[in-house]
Amino acid sequence: MALSSVSRAVLARWRPAGQRGTRGEKLWGPPRSRSSRGFAGRPPGVTQTPPTFGFLFDIDGVLVRGRHVIPAAREAFQKLADSDGQLRVPVVFVTNAGNCFRDLKAQELSDALGLEVSPEQVILSHSPLRLFHQFHEKCVLVSGQDPVEENARHLGFKHIVTIEDLRRAFPLLDMVDQSRRPKELPPQTTDFHTIEAVVLFGEPVRWETSLQLIIDVLLSNGNPGTELAAVPYPHIPILACNMDLLWMAEAKMPRFGHGTFLFCLENIYKKMTGKELRYEALIGKPSIVTYHYAEYLIKRQMERRGWASPIRKLYAVGDNPMADIYGANLYNCYLKSVCQTQNQAEVKGSAMMTEARSRDHPGLRKHWDILPGLVESCKSILVCTGVYNHHKEVPADPHESVTETVFHGHRDFCFDPSLVEASHVVKDVKDAVELVFQKENWSWE
Ligand SMILES: [Mg+2]
Repeated sequence: MALSSVSRAVLARWRPAGQRGTRGEKLWGPPRSRSSRGFAGRPPGVTQTPPTFGFLFDIDGVLVRGRHVIPAAREAFQKLADSDGQLRVPVVFVTNAGNCFRDLKAQELSDALGLEVSPEQVILSHSPLRLFHQFHEKCVLVSGQDPVEENARHLGFKHIVTIEDLRRAFPLLDMVDQSRRPKELPPQTTDFHTIEAVVLFGEPVRWETSLQLIIDVLLSNGNPGTELAAVPYPHIPILACNMDLLWMAEAKMPRFGHGTFLFCLENIYKKMTGKELRYEALIGKPSIVTYHYAEYLIKRQMERRGWASPIRKLYAVGDNPMADIYGANLYNCYLKSVCQTQNQAEVKGSAMMTEARSRDHPGLRKHWDILPGLVESCKSILVCTGVYNHHKEVPADPHESVTETVFHGHRDFCFDPSLVEASHVVKDVKDAVELVFQKENWSWE
């Protein structure tokens, strides 16, 4: 089966240092026979201690490229599986793709890797919304492309309004396309439920319609069609998934991503009101929320497998410095910050730690804290099979992976050169797994 196009940011560019941008659980399925899958795992009868580390794998550029499986990916997963076809360590797949179903993505990965991947191992850009219970009973406006409504429902949202619902209820709001303007003055809608939050899943079609109606909802305090004397501020909560400014498709130049849509929304709101658009949460790589959720799912896998050892280290493997490396490094800063706070040591307010803490969501802690054990670090591993440097040799010095000069990250993320500097740079995902096994004294064969 061909993999659908996975949204991915092009290699990030940034401003000079110091400046701010303007801006569950069936694990691997039933064991497959060694002969049918050709696993080269541990010999039968030989046991190994439970793992104390886990993997976060980006998908496009690491395991697949477009419709093609990267050969090193299959080799890597042969090493990650035992002779029964069971994973030897916990693994999650983290992608900023969103306009798709998690079950389908898991099936695509199963076909690509020759292993059965569970949907509970797949984190799409919007997956952490599953834990935002405080919004699930609220009436939310959702923005994005199909299957946005189904995804919202699967995540737990019960009162969903789509942009199209809003257009139908208030036909006088969407006026850019003259062919869509009502021919006659429609009756006024008076019984529409107040919208209590806006959830931005991904880039919509007809941007002018979505931009106009979302702004209308914000300026009317969730009652579009009404006129308020003053701008309500702070506005109703906004949750946004996938901040990638651009992504690479078949075209030679990158395409607009959801980050570009957010950029438009933020700037229209600011121009109209003089105030900053605020986010209740930004979700998807490189946000801490997404890495928190990955840690949560890895700990759930450990429990289900009966591995009593605590997870100490996470290894995040990706091809995009701005999304994968930045995100892993930011989470590593967060983990250090938490560790220091717990030790009641003096924490100096570096930009990174301030950034890290600002992305913490105490309301979500109660869900994650049911799984004890402090992860000590999250190491970033950059591979050269995707966005980054795929035509060049592996640099001897990870500093050399930092090559671009314009920051394409989101407005609310500071740029710090160290955040896009990978802990390790390797040729491909097989080398990444081998490197981690060596560092963890884990058997390769
Ligand atoms: Mg990628």
